[in-house]
Amino acid sequence: MNIIETKKLTKYYGNSPGIIDLDLSVEQGEIFGFIGPNGAGKSTTIRTLLGLIRPTGGSATIFGKDVVKFSPEINEEVGYLPSEVFYYDDMRAIDLLKYSGSFYKKDQKVIAKRINDLAAYLDLDLKKKIDDLSYGNKKKVGIIQGLLHQPKLIILDEPTGGLDPLMQQRFFALLKEENKKGATILFSSHILSEVQKLCDRVAIIKDGKIIKVERIDSLIENTNKRFKLETAVKVDKSRFTGLTGISDLVITDNSISFLYRGKINDVTKIIASLNLTNMLVEEPDLEEIFLHYYATD
Ligand code: ADP
Repeated sequence: MNIIETKKLTKYYGNSPGIIDLDLSVEQGEIFGFIGPNGAGKSTTIRTLLGLIRPTGGSATIFGKDVVKFSPEINEEVGYLPSEVFYYDDMRAIDLLKYSGSFYKKDQKVIAKRINDLAAYLDLDLKKKIDDLSYGNKKKVGIIQGLLHQPKLIILDEPTGGLDPLMQQRFFALLKEENKKGATILFSSHILSEVQKLCDRVAIIKDGKIIKVERIDSLIENTNKRFKLETAVKVDKSRFTGLTGISDLVITDNSISFLYRGKINDVTKIIASLNLTNMLVEEPDLEEIFLHYYATD
């Protein structure tokens, strides 16, 4: 069964489009990435799914139920982490979280234990007042708030801002664990490498429209990586003849730069035969991926 399904989902803000004719389906048990640059329509989609804003056209279901008609019922089983967490409060973290938990029709003892377990795992001091917490720690409160009722669907809108790399790793491990226990996850981001680490499939959104839905492994294999090599002496162009998937090759006295799409082993064989002083491989930025899809579609 599809946990999330949208059909021609459309949202206009006045005359300006947020999302247009969006068809999206997320299967049970998936970690689904939703990727696109700022302003692409990720938050609009998510906020519509959660019933926070009403669609202008089309429809969407979660757990097979219409998101406009059944929003409170659906949200019992959905955990949501918004991109910005704002708490103007002098409540202690523990009180805020217990208060949040009280809205769910679930055993409050189980929720209290879950809050403590998650706080221990994320290294958050629950006794502190929200106002006294750093941005990253406030984000942890948001994460716990989203997960404390063990939701069947977890929706994360650009969740990693403010988390240091170690905490981000822990957070991803936590999400993988929840996924193993059965939760479906929708994860929005404008950073490809984040989505790469976590997701099975990804939808690429731009200007309010889905331009591609693809498995993450084929997305990576089908996108260009930029290689920047520094060399002791000038390398002849002929060293790269026969390598398929190479483009935009520029060679100067001490550097080589090119884009490559294909098997990494094929290119490293050639690189290994050069006398390098330095090397950098950059993952494609989103614009490059979009260009690629515009070029092939
Ligand atoms: P993303 O989450 O991918 O950054 P958004 O869903 O926030 O993108 O925005 C999609 C488009 O809708 C953008 O053009 C944005 O300016 C517009 N938009 C979003 N929220 C509002 C709003 N409350 N009022 C008017 N326009 C909005």
